[in-house]
Amino acid sequence: MYLADYHTHSRVSPDGHVSMLEMASAALEAGLNEICFTDHFEPVEPRTTIPRKTFDWAAQKAEYADVTARWNGPVKLRLGLELGDSSVDEALVERLLVGMPELDFIIGSVHMLSKKFKFQDLAWIQEPDEKTCYAELEDYLENMLQMARWGKFTVLGHMTLPMRYMNDKRGFHVSMDGYGAEVEAILRTLIENGCGIEVNTNRGGQPLPGARWLKLYRRLGGEIITLGSDAHRPEDVGRGIREGQALLRECGFTRFCTFEKTKPIWYAL
Ligand SMILES: [Zn+2]
Repeated sequence: MYLADYHTHSRVSPDGHVSMLEMASAALEAGLNEICFTDHFEPVEPRTTIPRKTFDWAAQKAEYADVTARWNGPVKLRLGLELGDSSVDEALVERLLVGMPELDFIIGSVHMLSKKFKFQDLAWIQEPDEKTCYAELEDYLENMLQMARWGKFTVLGHMTLPMRYMNDKRGFHVSMDGYGAEVEAILRTLIENGCGIEVNTNRGGQPLPGARWLKLYRRLGGEIITLGSDAHRPEDVGRGIREGQALLRECGFTRFCTFEKTKPIWYAL
């Protein structure tokens, strides 16, 4: 079985820790065939809501040049990006993307809520109650639809991300189940725009999204799908990828993809 981790972060990300070389070594140790480095790009300065004036593409280019020069292992290396929150300011994002290196793959992600919620990041916002969680969830879904319409990425990242924070970290019992129409609109828009989704194996935790939405995506004709651990540390590289492949098979998928210069390469599940 071909094993590829298509969501990993190196020290180029503000919340990353180690070099791409160390992440590649971890991929080898985890028995993977391929790893894609998807460091963060955001339209705001790290851990703030202040719009960026520039983005340091040189740091990512230098890190990738270093790992490709030094790597002689059997694990295939790819350069990607986790492009967050285009819905905050699409014109700004497009200006910042000038100078981006040629990438194999781009994850489009929503981490931030809209202006109504002061552009706060889902990771740090502290909801007082479940009612607030649902108001945020609705806002999140609107941002995701807007991002899907924008469509300048390869796959939509961790579609059910609010659950990681609201449920796993803060102990609420929030569900997206009441938002079938909204999720379907997002998935249809992605498919129309030639984008896919990822199974974010959430470093071995609850997959984002789970079976219900994966089956819906499949039923709507969705095919483009990647698997990624969202590892920010070497020990998480490859975590949940095998289980994620089994989940995809259960949901009716027969293949998944990796990317080279944004063109899909298919592998049987
Ligand atoms: Zn993310």
